[in-house]
Amino acid sequence: MFLMQTTTMKPIYSGKAKDLFETETPEVLRAYFRDSATAFNAQKKGEIQNKGKVNATMSTLLFNLLEQDGIKTHFIKQIADNELLIKRVKIIPLEVIVRNIAAGSLCKRLGIKEGKVLKSPIVEFSYKNDELGDPLLTRAYIINALEVADNKTLDIISERTLKINEIFKEFFLNVGIKVVDFKLEYGTDKDSNLLLADELSPDNFRFWDAKTNEKLDKDRFRQDLGNVEGAYGEMLKRVKEGLKNEPARRRTGEPASSQSYNVRVQILPKADILDPQGQAVEKALKSLSYSEVIDLKIGKEIVFKLKSESKEKAQVHVKEMCEKLLANPVIEDYKIEID
Ligand code: 5GP
Repeated sequence: MFLMQTTTMKPIYSGKAKDLFETETPEVLRAYFRDSATAFNAQKKGEIQNKGKVNATMSTLLFNLLEQDGIKTHFIKQIADNELLIKRVKIIPLEVIVRNIAAGSLCKRLGIKEGKVLKSPIVEFSYKNDELGDPLLTRAYIINALEVADNKTLDIISERTLKINEIFKEFFLNVGIKVVDFKLEYGTDKDSNLLLADELSPDNFRFWDAKTNEKLDKDRFRQDLGNVEGAYGEMLKRVKEGLKNEPARRRTGEPASSQSYNVRVQILPKADILDPQGQAVEKALKSLSYSEVIDLKIGKEIVFKLKSESKEKAQVHVKEMCEKLLANPVIEDYKIEID
């Protein structure tokens, strides 16, 4: 396997509910979703059974949904119940919050009653900084004090966040859920593309049942409402139900925009493996007086075109092909070139 076991590796980043690990591909990370839960800036701590699995799976389904609507995300694929492969990004330290209905800190800050439907969705930014308690920011703070994003980037983020909000509001309403508010994070990849990052789950959304207003998200944990695990499970069930009703394009998982990449895989016998064909050719060359030839190996080259949404996704898929079929990893080394 080209990916090492999570248990034997040290995370490069350990958050409140997720650990990030490097893989053999520098641009690809592995995100491990834990069952641990925190609230009120980690003052309240606990465990929600199955949360890691539910959040990893729901994130997978919702990132796919967004990708099919042309939203670029860091998601590559789910590789285990609790684990996703994601593109490495530099996170912009902003919590981008969109609100449709008043709840949480908005009610506290403005004295508004929970449940008030806002005249129009609000996008706001907080500083992603636990020590400072994630303070609310103005644009001037972001651009001129923190210098973590410019005006144009904030415009793009706001516009994209509102588009995501429209997609989710419609999707969830079809399965009887009101999207009250949610928090997004964005990052930039090595080519400076802005990608939606983090996760999409009841940890960072407020979901209310459209008929009963029952809370089906992390507020059950924050406010000790009980049946937290049941609420997370119910939300995953609704997402799956929603996807069944989506247009066929979404069900088939067809990528919205795929590019064609040229792939070249070079396969050679490993250094310590006997290569009779290589030895025979080396011997023949020596008999033709090319005595300077040493360590000759004979391998093969496989070339093909691959349709993929991104180079990182293509890299991961070709590696899988090598491990499963194209090469014999016990006796052969392989090198992948994609352009
Ligand atoms: P509020 O500002 O009302 O506390 O939160 C607004 C929305 O953003 C809620 O859906 C909440 O779950 C989410 N949110 C705010 N801060 C965080 C955070 O630090 N981590 C996570 N996972 N979600 C957050």
